[in-house]
Amino acid sequence: MRCIKCGYVTENELDTYCQNCGHEFNSNYCTNEHCFQRNNGEPIPCNEDACYCPDCGSETVYFREGLITPKKY
Ligand SMILES: [Zn+2]
Ligand SMILES: [Zn+2]
Repeated sequence: MRCIKCGYVTENELDTYCQNCGHEFNSNYCTNEHCFQRNNGEPIPCNEDACYCPDCGSETVYFREGLITPKKY
């Protein structure tokens, strides 16, 4: 698992936070509150590299915070 914020790579997939910068892994959520109401009001985590929610197309938290930008595939 690679930290999206600082690039630190951890071997432990169960880590919740980056040891280097304190970033919380898998905390990338859809910013559209109507989107996660489909999940009993619980935010649904998006992929670490997702700029937009795959379900509704809204911006994700990481993208809004400037942590990630769309890549060329
Ligand atoms: Zn980090
Ligand atoms: Zn969404």
